[in-house]
Amino acid sequence: MEEISAQFPILQTRAHGRPLVYLDSAASTQQPEAVIRAVSDYHRHHHANIHRGVYQLSQTATHLYEDARARVAGFLGAAEPAECIFTSGTTAAINLVASAWGRASLAPGDEIILSVLEHHSNIVPWQLAAEASGARIKVIPINDAGELDLDAYRALLSPRTRIVAINHVSNALGTINPVREIIAEAHAAGALVLIDGAQWVAHGPVDVQALDADFYAFSGHKLYGPTGIGVLYGKRRLLETMPPYQGGGDMIERVTFARTTYAPLPNKFEAGTPHISGAVGLAAAIDWIETIGLERIGAHEQSLLRHTTGRLAEIPGLELKGTAREKSAVVSWVMVDPPIATLDVATQLDLAGVCIRTGHHCCQPLMDRLGVSSTARASMGVYNRKEDIDRLADGLAEITSAALKRSRASVAHIVPEPTPDVLYPAAVAQSPEAAAEEIVELFAFLPDWPMRHQHIIDLGDQLPVMPASLKSAANAVSGCQSTVHIAARLKPGTDDVIEFLADSDANIVRGLIALLQQLYSGQPARAILDFDAEALFARIGLDENLSMTRRNGLASMIQRLKQLAQQSAG
Ligand code: PLP
Repeated sequence: MEEISAQFPILQTRAHGRPLVYLDSAASTQQPEAVIRAVSDYHRHHHANIHRGVYQLSQTATHLYEDARARVAGFLGAAEPAECIFTSGTTAAINLVASAWGRASLAPGDEIILSVLEHHSNIVPWQLAAEASGARIKVIPINDAGELDLDAYRALLSPRTRIVAINHVSNALGTINPVREIIAEAHAAGALVLIDGAQWVAHGPVDVQALDADFYAFSGHKLYGPTGIGVLYGKRRLLETMPPYQGGGDMIERVTFARTTYAPLPNKFEAGTPHISGAVGLAAAIDWIETIGLERIGAHEQSLLRHTTGRLAEIPGLELKGTAREKSAVVSWVMVDPPIATLDVATQLDLAGVCIRTGHHCCQPLMDRLGVSSTARASMGVYNRKEDIDRLADGLAEITSAALKRSRASVAHIVPEPTPDVLYPAAVAQSPEAAAEEIVELFAFLPDWPMRHQHIIDLGDQLPVMPASLKSAANAVSGCQSTVHIAARLKPGTDDVIEFLADSDANIVRGLIALLQQLYSGQPARAILDFDAEALFARIGLDENLSMTRRNGLASMIQRLKQLAQQSAG
């Protein structure tokens, strides 16, 4: 197992000068040389559209695509390849069932059972189906360890339950759910079951027939395969009675303007040209996994999980989220004492070459249940080694000790809360453009991300204090990763100059707020509306290290400011 990482070209690269440690496999696994080569060979030697051409190349491509389906069927233990529909991923697979099955089968008063542990892609499609049909959603609660409350589940099951849609493994906490038992209980109540297998298939064997799953969904990119390809397994008798999901080429038998008849399975659910090279890559990934064996992979990951849990227990102030008895190699945590925003944890680990994920992990209802807005998450794959976990733990220990020093220093200088009037920052330049030029000049002296990062943190340290009274719900800005408040006002004595205060729990965001204040605070509303701060952030190279639109609420802050400017510009 120790040598497996050598088969992954990306794992031989460096990040910020350090050997890359990749601990975000629950988001996407990396691809081994065998998969990269299979996809590249397909593009170099075999590409053509499938099912249609009589020429040799098209026949070969068709053969490769259908062979991939047969490999998927074998991998899942399906009764036949036609029960395996290629989709773009788990999300598309669940949407297919919620939409096509839901349209034909759900009626007002019917019930759909989900759980608190679900990913948004196993919640929102069912909400859409419920809205369209008048069905209702019931939710299985969890205990504090992050395990499903099975008694509550049994109590929710009733003759009205039409489907139970549940994940095999929670992406945010790693809880492995007792899906066999869940399926048996649902069937006894006359309901179907869809299993979201996105987080299981790369970590242990699955046999859809032995489980008796009605539907099973997974994504190639979490299984050492390419992105944009996934699978929906469905029992033939169910797929046959479902209407098509999308209409188009390849899914028809005969089309007239009066009436269209549909192709048999699996084509009925594969409208349009599919992701052929993705299917080829997925088959190569399955072959590659099978040469190692999922039992061995699972055992290796369990040993990494034990090592991680032990090392993280040594970090002061770190609180684990999700301590289920049955867990896959996913570890989630928050830093509570001293509090350190998860965004800062991930940004600083990145500087040490360690990739982890932070945020709500597309599980906002679960975050609400846990009472946090985000967690930091390390998730492991077959290629990880104990040294990777040690790099993570050492990085966390450094971050914690630096934060402890900072918090001791700030306790020593408690200042009375000043009044907001004194603090709203005035303009630093004639216009946002002029302020931007000064920022660009300064950043030109900071050639790499570590230096820019440090400068941004320093700016954040000098941010004018935002009084607690202004950190109200009305002033909160929804960002994916951190808590942000912003309060703007018209400068006294003017009717169009806007000043604002803002704050965040994340130091990196505080620094970005300081940059926004330099650009916008004290400027006329019209100038604020006309200036594109995101383009400036790209100009100074921040878009390479911070995904502006999704990660830190920066885009929401700019939007909020512009809304306020719009209101006063009339
Ligand atoms: N379900 C779970 C449990 C997941 O972890 C994910 C992705 O993180 C998905 C569904 C969605 O997968 P995809 O984005 O590949 O469609």
